[in-house]
Amino acid sequence: MGLSTNQNNFELVSGLEIHVQLNTNTKIYSSDSASFGALPNQNISTVSLALPGALPKLNKEVIEKAIRIGLALNCTINQTNHFDRKNYFYADLPKGYQITQDSQPICINGFLEVELSDGSMKKIGINRIHLEEDAGKSIHDQDDNYSLVDLNRAGVPLIEIVTEPDIRSAEEASALLTEIRKLVRHLNVSDGNMEEGSLRCDANISIREKGTTEYGTRCEVKNLNSMRNVRRAMDFEFGRQVEVISNGGKIIQSTLNFDADKGTTSPMRTKEEANDYRYFADPDLQPVVISDNWLAEIKLAMPALPNEISKQMIGEFGISKADAALFAEDLDLLSYFNEALSIVKNKKSLINWLIGPIRAMLNDREVSIAGYKVKAEQLAEAVNLVDDKKITQQIAIQQLLPALEKEETHDVSGLAHSLNLLISENGDELGGFIDEVLNKYPQQVDAYKKGKKGVLGLFVGDVMKLAKGKADAKKLNELILEKLK
Ligand code: ADP
Ligand code: MG
Repeated sequence: MGLSTNQNNFELVSGLEIHVQLNTNTKIYSSDSASFGALPNQNISTVSLALPGALPKLNKEVIEKAIRIGLALNCTINQTNHFDRKNYFYADLPKGYQITQDSQPICINGFLEVELSDGSMKKIGINRIHLEEDAGKSIHDQDDNYSLVDLNRAGVPLIEIVTEPDIRSAEEASALLTEIRKLVRHLNVSDGNMEEGSLRCDANISIREKGTTEYGTRCEVKNLNSMRNVRRAMDFEFGRQVEVISNGGKIIQSTLNFDADKGTTSPMRTKEEANDYRYFADPDLQPVVISDNWLAEIKLAMPALPNEISKQMIGEFGISKADAALFAEDLDLLSYFNEALSIVKNKKSLINWLIGPIRAMLNDREVSIAGYKVKAEQLAEAVNLVDDKKITQQIAIQQLLPALEKEETHDVSGLAHSLNLLISENGDELGGFIDEVLNKYPQQVDAYKKGKKGVLGLFVGDVMKLAKGKADAKKLNELILEKLK
């Protein structure tokens, strides 16, 4: 109890360094494949191996992807930026330095607003986004006498997004990461997969007494590779620091590991042991100069962002936030919707179909809308038929859509007609069914006439069965009432 009282007197302060692996085909400074899952040392050539004389050449796509994410995070784009060498010695780094950006990163001074569970918005500053190359991988557990090195990952492009120390809770941190993951996927910058390491983060954590404004000494927890571990590391570290301070101790600035099994942090190195990286501008690479034209082209090619799409859908169609999010977070669904929109008469119906029966069916089959064989125009025509009361929704879903999956035809009405799915326009036929049913139930007809109105459902149900569902229920009701007069 003592501890929790102490925790109430303190507040968490955190800034994240988020590494995002870009989804380019080739590496950042060479034409080696950047793909995941190859045999060890398959994706390497002179540059990845750092053979003497091998020179790096910048991959243009990396710049474009970094700018896209920078614009989405409201950053200023440094139209002149350059690469620096960060010097350190390690077996998985054959050059003896990592190429990164230090004094002039590509994007600076941005922010992102995230929504918290109580509905409030939190604005988190983005200090900078810089480009860098990933290192290789040392493998220590496959040979008794040697460590092995796999350089496939060496030179794979990363961006590092560094936030301001604006985060005040584990919830804010995971809301931020969730939003960034959404954005990098939306902008086709990265697959954003935390489990495979395409998105990982270091959390800088300090505490301070509530009501004070100065920052405390921070510790940096390295390489958190899941949303859950980010939250656990923050909660643990907050508790640990409160305990140290409450017992009169001092936080020593240090780099920590997170043990996912135990849920605890442990020291890797302290500030005194920290490396001096001796950054300097890489003389093998020219400064990057982004012309106004190029920047304008990249801006023009940017898709609308999820939040903008959401707002627009809510404003235009009056749908809920949760429903709007389905479209905002699935560009395939959005483009399918837009294709159908010009043909469909009732836009709200189209939305209801897409988020209702169509979504349920696709979920069931575990396919995405991109893999759905019914084309957008075909669905639009089917929705129109239902809205025009030419076919019931049930028959459209159960029979017409499956038929459309096998048919290229644009004549959806014609297909429904040839399959005999349309609502019977033949009043005589329905009239015959009604007579048949009323004759079958003389006692119930009598009861109805004496005021037992509930039996009407029985008549409607039976006539519907005879009509094989191809009747408009409301119209059928009217016809039966007419006969019962
Ligand atoms: P360095 O260059 O030494 O890594 P930075 O100033 O670039 O330090 O900060 C790195 C990260 O640490 C940033 O995300 C920043 O928001 C965060 N940070 C800085 N000071 C604190 C603090 N007192 N408490 C928590 N996080 C902090
Ligand atoms: Mg740092």
